[in-house]
Amino acid sequence: MRKIGLLGGMSWESTALYYRLLNEDVRERLGGFHSARIVMASVDFADIEAMQVAGDWDTAGVALAEEARSLEAAGAECVVLCTNTMHKVADAIEAAVTIPLLHLADVTADAVKAAGLDRVALLGTRFTMEQPFYADRLRSHGLEVLVPEGDDLTLVHDVIYDELVLGAVRPESRTSYVDVVRRLVERGAGGVVLGCTEIELLIGPDDVDVPVFATTALHARAAVDFALS
Ligand code: GLU
Repeated sequence: MRKIGLLGGMSWESTALYYRLLNEDVRERLGGFHSARIVMASVDFADIEAMQVAGDWDTAGVALAEEARSLEAAGAECVVLCTNTMHKVADAIEAAVTIPLLHLADVTADAVKAAGLDRVALLGTRFTMEQPFYADRLRSHGLEVLVPEGDDLTLVHDVIYDELVLGAVRPESRTSYVDVVRRLVERGAGGVVLGCTEIELLIGPDDVDVPVFATTALHARAAVDFALS
């Protein structure tokens, strides 16, 4: 089994979910006492969040590249960056290591296409929804991508930073998210990408009427595919 390198802590709420999903998947596939071989670098999210707010992506890229190098030095055979938003600096990370980065947008696009869809909604942080680095990567796979507008976009972002990354899962926010998804479906979305690794702590397939693409679960499954290949 190849060793998975988790670059997490952004936030640790979703990294904990990665850890559980990786181990459950390996146990399911291999049985018995099998569990995933993992090394993890987990950052202080306060530092990264401050860089996001300041728009200092270059410094964030340097910091995460350094963490990725430490994973490779510890024997990791791939890098799993446990956040959609910080794929903004995926190029800096890839340039720093010789092991592959399992890019979350590629994994997600493959799942959307496998489901036979070509137009999806994207929920995530403001950075992920507004900037081209993630949506354009999905589009490069031939997908059409819709994002929330106006107050809906602000609500989706604020729930992530004010609640989910702090471990707060509120039923009223679930209802608000479901309303946002309904409006995106009315605009033509055939499915919804939960493009923030904490969102699947809040909503899932039972909450909405269209297919849901939960990026943490998809990413974890792709990592196990890699580890067992
Ligand atoms: N984990 C989130 C994501 O997938 C948001 C926190 C962050 O900014 O990294 O985008």
